[in-house]
Amino acid sequence: SRMTSYIGRFAPSPTGPLHLGSLVAAMASYLDAKVHEGRWLVRIEDVDRDRNVPGADEHILASLRRCGMAWDGEVTWQTRRGDLYEAALLQLAPHVYPCGCSRREIADSQTRLQTRLALPPNATLVYPGTCRAGLAPGKAPRALRLRTPLPTCVIGFEDRWHGHVEQDIATEVGDYVIRRADGFWAYQLAVVVDDAAQGITDIVRGADLLDSTPRQLYLQELLGAPHPRYLHVPVVVNADGEKLSKQTGAAAFDNGAPPAQLLAGSLLPAARFLGMEIQAGTIPAFWRAAVPAWENLLRDRGGL
Ligand code: GLU
Repeated sequence: SRMTSYIGRFAPSPTGPLHLGSLVAAMASYLDAKVHEGRWLVRIEDVDRDRNVPGADEHILASLRRCGMAWDGEVTWQTRRGDLYEAALLQLAPHVYPCGCSRREIADSQTRLQTRLALPPNATLVYPGTCRAGLAPGKAPRALRLRTPLPTCVIGFEDRWHGHVEQDIATEVGDYVIRRADGFWAYQLAVVVDDAAQGITDIVRGADLLDSTPRQLYLQELLGAPHPRYLHVPVVVNADGEKLSKQTGAAAFDNGAPPAQLLAGSLLPAARFLGMEIQAGTIPAFWRAAVPAWENLLRDRGGL
């Protein structure tokens, strides 16, 4: 039986035009909402004002329209939702502390620790808890961090694509930032508050965010918000194995391309990347075929 209360979303950051990588995430979340006869919302994640590219939001929305992906309800912009994040911060207050460390200082202390313990260099910066018991003398408050339970805090979930995933947020992440030193709301906080406020039941997004999910589950716990279901689709990479983005050479979506070119150059390749060979000569025919193809794909993987 179908879950009729399904609410999904596509949450692009307006850092540039849509490309194959972001289209894959958009397509998977859209198809999943259609298979479940649910709603599909679009939210512009523009909290990081330094990375926003003017006009990229409207360009992305135009691309979705060109692809025939109609969203439900009104598009939301995170920069207009500061009151919600402020309210969440108040609720989290007992778990939050100001931190005066710079990225450099955290990296240096991690390098010293790795050298001392002879550990391999680790790409993820784990916050060592320097300001946990109070700002170190002479330090000014910069970011706000959320206390993770010590000594360990393993958080697991069942991903509909990857199966069981777990992470110890205390030892693998450390106390994490919920408001940044530049005053911007952190992605982790904004995404959790919005997913809860919008009643999102199902999150379908790129696997580059798999290791953010435990942090988000923990925030949901503290805020008394329900846990959505998660499905993380594989991430498109370039020839050097880097996640596809404007910076790594992704071709921008061309909103002026004729439908046949959108189909052959964007929709069919995105579907193929997800593991679906769709036979279709028009965009509407593409979606008619893609919805059952996604359902079959998930059924085969056991992730329906
Ligand atoms: N805004 C994030 C991105 O574009 C996606 C966040 C999410 O889907 O949770 O990478």
